[in-house]
Amino acid sequence: MGTMGREIVGVDVKKILELLNKAFADEWLAYYQYWLGSKVVAGPMKDAVIAELMQHAADELRHATMVTTRIIQLGGTPLISPNEWIKYSNCGYDGPSDPFVKKILQQNIKGEQCAINVYNNIIQQVGMKDHVTYNIAVQILQDEVEHEEDLQSLLEDLSVILK
Ligand code: FE
Ligand code: FE
Ligand code: MG
Repeated sequence: MGTMGREIVGVDVKKILELLNKAFADEWLAYYQYWLGSKVVAGPMKDAVIAELMQHAADELRHATMVTTRIIQLGGTPLISPNEWIKYSNCGYDGPSDPFVKKILQQNIKGEQCAINVYNNIIQQVGMKDHVTYNIAVQILQDEVEHEEDLQSLLEDLSVILK
């Protein structure tokens, strides 16, 4: 980013970069969790669940792009190796070892709830001091809130069948 672009950031840039790199790790792990989940998922309403999981995987990858772009603008370096993802992530990785639809939905709902907290925290820390990061975090938060709702409504529909 240009020097003035960086100068107007009113908070510790190092701190923002740390928060963004942790979120970056979360996005890749979320992407992979959804992507693999969409391949292995089994059980009732499988087709509807696969469609949602694939859509969310694409969203998480887009979030990773948004976050990296900002990291680079701020003069930081995105985590270089996937080996660092688990170490830096806030939300970790819940592998789809049990492919049953209900289990996969529950795992991803848990992940979305964690992501909602991550971006809510970034928004609160950045406040009005870095409008660009603020804007990116708000956009991503809106997606994560939608993701949680999509998955919870699928789980609700599924509970009618599974009863
Ligand atoms: Fe995301
Ligand atoms: Fe999400
Ligand atoms: Mg969706």
